[in-house]
Amino acid sequence: MTVAYERLHANLKALKLPTVESIVDSYLESTSAKGRSVIEVLDYLVDQEAKARQTSIAESRMRLARFPARKAIEDFDFEFQPSVDKTVVRELATLRFIHNAENVLLLGPAGVGKTHLAIALGLVAAKAGLSVYFSTVFDAMNRLKKAEQRGTFDIAMRSLVQPRLLILDEIGYLPMDREGAHLFFRVVSDRYEKGSMILTSNKTFAEWGEVLGDPVMASAVLDRLLHHSTVVHIKGESYRLRERRRMIGQRGGASLPVERKRVKGEGEK
Ligand code: ADP
Ligand code: MG
Repeated sequence: MTVAYERLHANLKALKLPTVESIVDSYLESTSAKGRSVIEVLDYLVDQEAKARQTSIAESRMRLARFPARKAIEDFDFEFQPSVDKTVVRELATLRFIHNAENVLLLGPAGVGKTHLAIALGLVAAKAGLSVYFSTVFDAMNRLKKAEQRGTFDIAMRSLVQPRLLILDEIGYLPMDREGAHLFFRVVSDRYEKGSMILTSNKTFAEWGEVLGDPVMASAVLDRLLHHSTVVHIKGESYRLRERRRMIGQRGGASLPVERKRVKGEGEK
């Protein structure tokens, strides 16, 4: 018995089954194990190990993704933003688009929820154990430029090409220089039909020529991006402005400066 007991624990450690190793003794002594068949006991223990492993993979995926905030689809008010089709977002949340290496483009003015939806879909993917990377396009291109100077370009490029889902936020808020536009084209080309991207932009596709500083490059980028894609045009009011107006309405005009400060201090951006 002692030999078996010790060998069991040693093997559980060696085989890297830490959850089973830590719960097996107490579980076998517990009332819930009594009256269960051997198969049921084994199933319970192995299932606990599998669940713990899934949770730890999901947590590390979420950390590696570098989301700027946690946003969920359930927290998105679809009634406030009727231009966003709930069915389309639900379909995207099945992650089929990632398995098919398709892209998602979220377009619309500031504050309508583009980043919110991009993060929310990214979180669903990370929780499902897929590798995700989130960055503003500006930061991602700057990192590539710096890596090029340091001679680590390939490593930096791999970090943008390898994840199953790459989210590039805020295309068009800042114009790209020639090198930035060229690097952006390379990322899009390297991922084409291999890995999904979610892109957000406050500019229409017609304006991307200006954003990239080169209409020919912009049409080559859009050609690849849109080949297999879902485009969500979000029209309507900024959610932040709505929130601010609501607060002003509730408290009366006299409290306006205080409310302004509070909204600004929310730290969403
Ligand atoms: P955008 O990226 O389009 O500028 P954000 O996604 O950053 O806008 O949204 C601004 C803020 O408003 C965020 O805190 C976001 O969570 C919230 N928000 C935007 N739209 C909605 C919505 N329809 N329901 C709930 N929260 C929303
Ligand atoms: Mg945004």
